[in-house]
Amino acid sequence: MYYPYVVVGAGLAGLTVAERIAAGKNEKVLVVDKRAHIGGNVYDSYNEDGILIHNYGPHIFHTNDREVYEYLGQFTKWDDFWHRVLTQVDGNLIPMPITLETLNRLYHLSMSPEEMERFIAARAVPLEEIKTSRDVALSKVGEEIYQKFFENYTKKQWGVDPADIDTSVISRIPLRFNRDTRYFTDKYQGMPHCGYTKLCEAMVHNKNIKLLLNTDFEEIRDDLPYKTLIYTGPADEYFHYKHGKLAYRSVDFVMETYDMESFQDAPVVNYPNDYDYTRITEFKKMTGQQHKKTTIMKEFPKAEGEPYYPFPTAECKAQFALYQKEMEKEENVYFLGRLAEYRYYNMDAVVRSALDLYRDKLC
Ligand SMILES: Cc1cc2nc3c(=O)[nH]c(=O)nc-3n(C[C@H](O)[C@H](O)[C@H](O)COP(=O)(O)OP(=O)(O)OC[C@H]3O[C@@H](n4cnc5c(N)ncnc54)[C@H](O)[C@@H]3O)c2cc1C
Repeated sequence: MYYPYVVVGAGLAGLTVAERIAAGKNEKVLVVDKRAHIGGNVYDSYNEDGILIHNYGPHIFHTNDREVYEYLGQFTKWDDFWHRVLTQVDGNLIPMPITLETLNRLYHLSMSPEEMERFIAARAVPLEEIKTSRDVALSKVGEEIYQKFFENYTKKQWGVDPADIDTSVISRIPLRFNRDTRYFTDKYQGMPHCGYTKLCEAMVHNKNIKLLLNTDFEEIRDDLPYKTLIYTGPADEYFHYKHGKLAYRSVDFVMETYDMESFQDAPVVNYPNDYDYTRITEFKKMTGQQHKKTTIMKEFPKAEGEPYYPFPTAECKAQFALYQKEMEKEENVYFLGRLAEYRYYNMDAVVRSALDLYRDKLC
């Protein structure tokens, strides 16, 4: 059967465009994904103990974009969820990002907001030029806070010393001079009531959408007729790596299940200085599931493997710009999403881009 629209990738980018073409235009669309499931990186599933896990890392929906919140809300009921993160520093578990509460607990003080401002100002290092990621942190919070919270975490997460890299890795240091310990401050925050996979299934529940899973686009692209292609796979792969392989940071997600109700005090605990993993997520604390056991996930960043985080350096961006030039020459092909656009996207932002693409170019 001929499909005028072909979407490569069944992540949130691809599914949003497919849903709009199918429901908004009443046109047939084929969605191809090389994985065995839809949802891309937001895919979640029940493990052998019956605990809902996020297979590709913890995903918390948060946005100030009401249209995106309401668009996704057609496919799920949202459960209220205000994400909180603790970080282990000097043996203390204290809130992240750095708030008044964080510093008071770390230094056993009881500062007011104004005193915190003076505390930070006295430590920030005035630098003539901000050249590296270390400079960004030093100029904002000073040496000691930089070392406790950012230096080793960055080394683990990106495999580079912040002093050796431009300002793209640590581009800003979020500081809150109040006691708001929520991790995100967006107006809308939540978890899909039945999980992300169910949300995605509801998006593709349309007779105009045909799913082709376990299929690498590369293997069928020469034989696949279409009028319009929406490509959400990796940019370098589409062009057969003619400008080289784009660099990504990958992660090993290691799950452990314990015969106990609760493992830790927060949904996520960061470990900037201890252990080889960056953080531990306890899924029940995000999903609200009641279960007598609990599953946690440890994240071990690594250089090779599934592409998760594009390297945000100027060099990598320049390499990607060569691919962008190639994209401009392609006819009837639209490039969308975190892999095709080689950028870190939050879920709400990728849905926003997909809705905009549909509105501006496809409908
Ligand atoms: C560890 C981690 C945690 C995150 N946490 C959050 C969070 O808390 N909140 C938030 O808002 N965002 C979070 N994100 C970001 C979120 O995952 C992305 O915004 C979203 O997944 C992007 O959707 P996408 O469709 O662009 O990409 P993806 O979800 O990656 O989908 C791309 C799809 O394309 C398929 N594909 C690739 N190549 C081919 C090919 N050749 N043929 C066929 N199919 C192909 C892939 O299999 C994949 O299914 C997180 C990301 C990571 C990595």
